[in-house]
Parts: sequence; structure tokens; C-alpha cells
Amino acid sequence: MAQMIRGNTGDWEIVIGMEIHAQVTANAKLFSGASTAFGAAPNSQVSFVDAAMPGMLPVLNEKCVEQAIRTGLGLNAQVNTRSVFARKNYFYPDLPQGYQISQYDQPIIGEGKIEIDLPGGELKDIGITRLHLEQDAGKSVHDQHPSKSYVDLNRSGCALMEIVSEPDIRGPEEAAAYLSKIRMILRYLGTCDGNMEEGSMRADVNVSVRKPGNPYGTRCEIKNVNSIKAVQQAIDYEAARQVEILEDGGKIDQETRLWDPAKGVTRSMRSKEEAHDYRYFPDPDLLPLEFESSWVEEIKQTLPELPDEKKHRFMNEYGLSLYDASVLIAERIRADYYETVAKERDAKLAANWVINELLGILNKNEKTLDESPVSASQLGGLIDLISDNTISGKIAKDVFADMVASGKDAAAIVEEKGLKQVTDTGAIEAVIDEVIAENPDNVAAYRSGKDKLFGFFVGQVMKKTGGKANPAAVNDILKKKLG
Ligand code: ADP
Ligand code: MG
Repeated sequence: MAQMIRGNTGDWEIVIGMEIHAQVTANAKLFSGASTAFGAAPNSQVSFVDAAMPGMLPVLNEKCVEQAIRTGLGLNAQVNTRSVFARKNYFYPDLPQGYQISQYDQPIIGEGKIEIDLPGGELKDIGITRLHLEQDAGKSVHDQHPSKSYVDLNRSGCALMEIVSEPDIRGPEEAAAYLSKIRMILRYLGTCDGNMEEGSMRADVNVSVRKPGNPYGTRCEIKNVNSIKAVQQAIDYEAARQVEILEDGGKIDQETRLWDPAKGVTRSMRSKEEAHDYRYFPDPDLLPLEFESSWVEEIKQTLPELPDEKKHRFMNEYGLSLYDASVLIAERIRADYYETVAKERDAKLAANWVINELLGILNKNEKTLDESPVSASQLGGLIDLISDNTISGKIAKDVFADMVASGKDAAAIVEEKGLKQVTDTGAIEAVIDEVIAENPDNVAAYRSGKDKLFGFFVGQVMKKTGGKANPAAVNDILKKKLG
């Protein structure tokens, strides 16, 4: 599955490791009580701690710790009952403390792994190296005044989880699958809303290339890429850039680069020589973070069924394909909707209706599932009418379109419009006799071996009955009469 780059000297493999910053869902910041709500007026959610006023002391928010543990469990990772907050020292105008409180060599979460879904139904494990808690910085605003820059500290001190992957990812497609699986897991857990447009999830992408079988090459780190599409584009560009340098006999400088979405290129930001020396040291204002493993057990009891478990259960319990199961579990609300529809019904038929018809129409109308004009029990009602032969699958599509437009129940629409299927074989026989009488040439041709004409007769019967004849009965009787 790994996507290779074909160079002049042969194939190159792309190696990627990602550092994802995910804003923790919590009402207050990591070390202060200030609000974390998105979209507030600048500097309206800043406590003295967040503004780094002299003498202010950080107080750890227990909710953020719980969220980190939940996430660690969701990533099948080691939870460390002892971890240490450290100061990462650097100067930036939107970092009033002059350092960021982060975790360094003793993070709260250690090694784990997740499963990613690749096109073609392949599954692959990606190793998680660690997850640590840290503070976000504020925001410098450069586009509000011709000659001045402003600083907004609302984001200063908000809790972030940095999730670091092993360099197990092998190309833009896998990187996209990894990012979307992480986002899905965080959303299922309720630990981060995953809204990349609002900046609550962003990725640093480490990219290197090598000849297959060789040791890892030197990597470049692309900072703050904020959409799945941008991640793919940045990798494509960066990997091609590195191959070109290497094939020209050059070497890759380890450096930090920026993705420029407007130009579609990565640009050097700083080289290894200019890399910061953060002089990490344990924050003297904070004790080591220690908790009982019984707390971890308690949190574990509250975890929802996670996407991959759900996916495998849908395949086993409902007999769905990997593709169908993957589509249905993409959001928790979607999976719940499907299960309501499928309950005590034909599970495969239910999956087809949810995926092809319901999601199709929602997508077309740019609506989300919670805005669906058709509820799960209403869609179930429609499927019941198909299963008990009240209407054909074809008529059901028209009824569904009507349900979407009117919000009415399927049964009411079928009743109102007189769409009940004709299963009375006498009535169907009469129509078939008419069709045979009207088309003597085709009858003769069919009988002399033109089997394909069968569809023509079915079509004629359906036309005359307004699509209401039971297709199975039509087939049976036609075969008998024409045979
Ligand atoms: P640092 O401490 O300098 O940030 P890390 O060891 O923490 O370095 O690695 C950061 C990220 O870079 C991780 O996600 C890791 O998987 C990835 N990475 C490490 N080596 C490579 C490589 N040769 N190619 C691509 N990614 C790599
Ligand atoms: Mg790092």
C-alpha cells in the first residue's frame, strides 16, 4: 500500500511520523479557571495566570488530566500514574510566561497503537510513541492594523494533548487515514472536538525518504498543517523535493519547514543549527502528577465502544463488508442511527439505505445527520414496507424522496398515493396477457432464443402498472407465459 516515488535512480519510500496537537475539551484551561469557549472577544478569557502576572501560581485542572487518560486508553496506550510537568523555555510575543508548561521525559501517556483503514480494505497498525499535556500559546494578530501587531491571549493556557506517532506512516494516503482515525477516536471519546478549521487539531508532519530496505533518511518537520488535504499536499511536495535533492547528489538538512497553502510549497523556517535549546526543567511550581491506578480503571469503565471495535462488531454481527462498516462507524451518531434502523431488520438492506440513500441525500443537501428530515425509525418503517412486499425497492426510492421533502411516514405516503404493490397474480396475469398480445414480433423473437428480450417484457408490465407490480410475481408469470 505504501506509495512510492518513482525517481531516476529507482523507487523511493516516504517515511512519516506525526505530532498532533489536540485541544482538550474542557470548560477551563489547563492551569487556570478561565473559559476556553471558541470565538469570544479578544483577551476576554484571560486569568492572571494566563497573562503570567508576577506571583501567580498554576493549579492543575483535574478534568484535563482525566481527558488525557481517556485519550490514552482510547489509543490502547500505557497510562503513567506518575508524570512530570516541565518548563520549555522560549521567547515569543504571544507567550507571556517566557516558557510553556509541557511534559518532557516523563509524559502522562506512553506507548500505544491504533489501526488505520486504507483504500482497498487493508488495515495497518500505527505505533503511538507518547501523549503529553501542555499549554497552548496565545495568538499574534497581524492583519488588523497596517503597522501594528496585536496579541490575543484567549488561547493562552488552554490544554493541548500532543500525540506523537512512530515513523510508521508510509505516504500521504496513510497520513490522511491516520489523521482521520485519530480525529474519529478523539470525537468518540469526547476529549477533543477535532475541528481543524477552528484550529482545535493541528499536525506537525515529519517527512523523510529512503530507498526501500535502507535505514531512515534525514527528516524535515513541517509545522502546523491544519487540514487533512493540506497534510497530503505538503507530504507530496516535500517528499518530491527531498528525492530531487538526493538524486542530484545533495543531502537533506534536518530543518523545520512551513507549508504555504497558497503557493503549494514548503519553505524553510529554521535549520537544525538555529534549533531552539529549550532548556527543559521540572516546573518548580508544580508537584509531579501522581494518581491511583484505580482512577484509570474507573475512567476505563466509562469509555464508549471505540470506532475500530464497532467496525469489527458491525462486520461480525450484521455481516457487513469492511467498507460498509467503515462508512457507518465514521461518526458515533451515524453508527447509532444505523443500529436503530437495523434492529430486527435485514441488516444489509438497512446499511444500503443508510449509506446510499440517506447519506447520499444529506450530502447533496449539505446537511448533517442530526438535521436529517427522516428519522431512524421512519427509515425503518420504509424498509419494513419493502421487506413485507407492500412496495418494491424501486417505488421505495420515490417514497423516500417524498419522505425527505415532507417529513411524513412511509406508510402514510404509500396509502395517500396508492402505491401498494400489486401482488394479486390475477391482475398481473391480465396485464401480461395484454403485453404479449401487443408485441407479437418480440414474443416470436424471444421464443426463438433472444433471451435478452425478457427485460423488455418486464419493463412493459411495470410501465402499465405504474411500477406497482410485484417484480418476483411478474418474473414468474412472464416466464411461464413466454416459455
Ligand atoms: P524530536 O524530539 O526532535 O521532536 P522525535 O524523536 O520526538 O524528535 O520525533 C518526532 C517525530 O518525528 C515523531 O513523530 C517521529 O515518528 C518522527 N520521525 C523520527 N524520525 C523520522 C524519520 N527519519 N522520518 C520521518 N519521521 C521521523
Ligand atoms: Mg518532538
